[in-house]
Amino acid sequence: MRVFERLISSFRKMPGVGPKQAERFALYVARAPEGEISELLEAVEEIRNAVKPCPKCFSYSDGGLCDICSDNQRIQNIICVVENVQDLEAIEKTGFYKGLYHVLGGVISPAQGLGETSIRLKELIKRTEELKVNEIIVAVNPSAEGETTAAYIKTLLEKKVEKISRIAFGVPLGGDINYLDELTLTHALQGRRKI
Ligand SMILES: [Zn+2]
Repeated sequence: MRVFERLISSFRKMPGVGPKQAERFALYVARAPEGEISELLEAVEEIRNAVKPCPKCFSYSDGGLCDICSDNQRIQNIICVVENVQDLEAIEKTGFYKGLYHVLGGVISPAQGLGETSIRLKELIKRTEELKVNEIIVAVNPSAEGETTAAYIKTLLEKKVEKISRIAFGVPLGGDINYLDELTLTHALQGRRKI
């Protein structure tokens, strides 16, 4: 059935959802009581309208600063640079990291025509200067594009920041931060090395 396939392929786009799970979600949607589905649709619409990027780190917020940027208990002179909000959340879940974040919104990928202006590097330089940052932890995923991006961040910031480090991966190249378990990710953060 085409409508069914279409719904399955929409669920497949969600992080961590495989073909079997997408099919179960689609079956649920097809069979669930009317009230549950309208509740789901309303919640989806509400979150799409409510969530705006944080003006500082570009994580999710409800319009103003996000919870992390507005928390003055966080260490203000360390920034962990991630590709997307899912990776931020994965690192946050470890409870190990107490500094701030910066969400790049992707990586530099010449093959896909994505140059250094396609991600939020200008904003990263600005924050680094404003906060007088001591350490930048580059926590982009270990891919060729991730390495290019890490090297470029180093060139941009090495004269402004004392330490630029890259998290140590216990996973093969091409792994994804938000699929790592909390312990592996904590080790990756602890084992970060200077680049
Ligand atoms: Zn923020």
